[in-house]
Amino acid sequence: MADVFDVIVVGGGIVGCAVVWEMTSYGYKCLLLEKNENLVSEASSGNSGMLHTGFDAVADTLELQCIQHTFPKMFGVLEGFGLPYNKIGATMVAWTQEQAQIIPTIAQRCRAARVSFCTEISLSELYSREPGLRKQAQGALWIPGETVVDPWLTAISLAHDAKKKGAMIKTNAVVQNISRTECERQRIQVMTSLGQFTGRVVINCGGLYGDIVDKLAGLQHFRISPKKGQYAIYPQKVGHHINSSILPIPTSKGKGEIIFKTVYGNVVVGPTFEDSASRARPESDACTIRRLVRLGESCVPGLEGCPIVNTYTGVRPATETKDYHIDSYPESCWITVGGIRSTGLSGSLGIADKVRRLVLHQHALEPSGPRRTGLEKMDIKFVPPCHARIDDVLYTVTHPITLNGVWKSRDSRL
Ligand SMILES: Cc1cc2nc3c(=O)[nH]c(=O)nc-3n(C[C@H](O)[C@H](O)[C@H](O)COP(=O)(O)OP(=O)(O)OC[C@H]3O[C@@H](n4cnc5c(N)ncnc54)[C@H](O)[C@@H]3O)c2cc1C
Repeated sequence: MADVFDVIVVGGGIVGCAVVWEMTSYGYKCLLLEKNENLVSEASSGNSGMLHTGFDAVADTLELQCIQHTFPKMFGVLEGFGLPYNKIGATMVAWTQEQAQIIPTIAQRCRAARVSFCTEISLSELYSREPGLRKQAQGALWIPGETVVDPWLTAISLAHDAKKKGAMIKTNAVVQNISRTECERQRIQVMTSLGQFTGRVVINCGGLYGDIVDKLAGLQHFRISPKKGQYAIYPQKVGHHINSSILPIPTSKGKGEIIFKTVYGNVVVGPTFEDSASRARPESDACTIRRLVRLGESCVPGLEGCPIVNTYTGVRPATETKDYHIDSYPESCWITVGGIRSTGLSGSLGIADKVRRLVLHQHALEPSGPRRTGLEKMDIKFVPPCHARIDDVLYTVTHPITLNGVWKSRDSRL
């Protein structure tokens, strides 16, 4: 008789990698199915690589809960695996009087979220912290704790560790159909381009395609409306011009365009927030990149005259309804984790913890094996032009932050 997996995870972005790691660590027998040749190839390969504290998340939301759960735990994981991170903090800068008036409200929201001790700082403190900023700021907020990580390595390490602990991971595995006829017996059939697999619970971590994957199971509760983000990347040699991530005053569209230093020291300006006609990763457009460069230079004069080394884009799996859809359908042997728009990296371990609890309590499914906790340092070697060997397994690096950080300047389009 074919193997029956406790849990089948659809999608190998940061969320799917975190879920398969959590479930495997707790003793569930897991299979992860990813349609692309490489894990971390969609939304998760076009983000800013920031581990947010949740300082600006809305109080009492699932998003904030997941970020608050992830934030402390992620440092244990990064340390345990030996992955790079930099807790550089963030500085929100008001460039007009009007913007400066909003800062106390943001500080208040930040305190309500109780995750980060944001403090309004004077202009003299701002310029002593950030001497490279243009000398026209009108107000500033210091947000400690905001951290930059290698977003590719973080996700891959979770999947890699899950595999070491017994999970099966299959790429080039397009989930094409679902049969729920045996759900009453806690059996669900997943038809893929590589054949059929049977599980007790399926977890849809389809990200940008989460609504399409849900439809395969006859569910239709949200629709992804993709939002594009574009970035301009500067070389590491200008990294000394900023000491923290420089945030604008946020708008209804989100955090806005940030000037930040990656974990490898590149200065990056972005992301934009634009409607996207397609879920596929678009090319960047020259006009927007010129605008981002002007923005960078106007806030950080030291960037003037320094050519960018690259650009990249990402697409957010946004929905019209809410930021996090984590819904459980025990009668369908199904859990949906969708619409994880703009904090999927920051909320990943919290999302995974929530999913595990749903499997245990709502699906009444106990792990079929023993717990396999414990974190071991990974032996990571980057192999030019675009690979990394982790404990003798070769992976293709798919995130421009890693590509441009490890190999300085190169074409990030794979
Ligand atoms: C511009 C931008 C900036 C961002 N910045 C940050 C940041 O700094 N910090 C932060 O925390 N978050 C950030 N985010 C958000 C974060 O990147 C997303 O929330 C996260 O990537 C969502 O991960 P996911 O795994 O749900 O989706 P995805 O990465 O899209 O993964 C879903 C996976 O499912 C697979 N899949 C889909 N359909 C099928 C199928 N039928 N069969 C098999 N596999 C399938 C896909 O191929 C894909 O690999 C940013 C996002 C963008 C775009």
